[in-house]
Amino acid sequence: MSNDKIILSVATTGNWPAKAQNSNLPTTPEEIARAVVESWREGAAVAHVHVRDDMGKVSCELARFQRVKELIRAQGCDVIINFSTSGASGLVSEGERMNSLSAGPELASFDAGSMNFNERVFLNPPDFLEEIARRMAAAGIKAEIEVFDHGMIENAGAVIERGLIKLPLWWQFVLGVKGGAPATARSLLHLVDNLPAGSLWSVCALGPRQLPMNVLAIAMGGHARTGLEDNLYYRRGELARSNAQLVARLARIARECGREPATPAEAR
Ligand code: ZN
Repeated sequence: MSNDKIILSVATTGNWPAKAQNSNLPTTPEEIARAVVESWREGAAVAHVHVRDDMGKVSCELARFQRVKELIRAQGCDVIINFSTSGASGLVSEGERMNSLSAGPELASFDAGSMNFNERVFLNPPDFLEEIARRMAAAGIKAEIEVFDHGMIENAGAVIERGLIKLPLWWQFVLGVKGGAPATARSLLHLVDNLPAGSLWSVCALGPRQLPMNVLAIAMGGHARTGLEDNLYYRRGELARSNAQLVARLARIARECGREPATPAEAR
C-alpha cells in the first residue's frame, strides 16, 4: 500500500449513544449492516461494530454479531470487520465481552487498560488483557489496540513483549473521553511519539473534536475513524444524517490532501 493512502474506519453505533439523541443511529443488525455498507461505499475500509438488544441497549450477544457479519457479506461488501470487545464493562462479565470473537471478525478491539470513563469505571485489568490477547492470537484475529490514555501504551507493551500481538501493531487513539487523554494536538503528538517503531495508528475523538483530530491524522500521515459512535453531529446544531455522511466528508478532505482512502484489500 502506498504510504499516502489513508485507512478510514467507521464506528457506527458504540455502547452509549441513543436513538433519542439522533434517530439516525443504527441499532438493529439490519440498520448496522446497512450503515456499514453505505460507509464502505464512501471509502471506509474498516467497520467497528457494537451490537444492541431489542431495546437498543448494549449487548454482547453472539448471534447479533454473527447476523451483522452475514448481512454485510451478503451485500458483497469486503470491508474489514472489527468487532468491539468493550461490552459495557461493569454490566457484563469479562467472558461475555469476548463473545464477539466467536463471530470471527478479522479485527477486534483490545482496550489496553482501565480508566474512569465518564461516570463509570472501564475495567481492563492485566489478566483480562492477557487472556483476550491469547484468544485473539489463537483465533487469528488482529488486535486493534485502543488507547484512551498514555499509560495504555505501556500496558499494551507488556502484552506485545510476550508475543501475544502480531506485527505490524495497529493502534486506535480514542481521545476526549472524560477521564482519558484530551483530544488535542499536543496529546496526539505525545502519543504518536511514544509508539514502538513500525506502528500504524489511527485516531478518533468525541463530539466536536472528531473532525479536527481526523484532519490532524490526515496531515500527520496517520489514519482516521469517524462515525456516530463518537459523534452524533455533522456540525454544530446539525445532527448527522448517517455514518456514511461523516465518512464521505472525511474521504473528501483526505483526497484534497493527496491521501486516497485505502480499499479494504489495501488496508489488509
Ligand atoms: Zn467502540
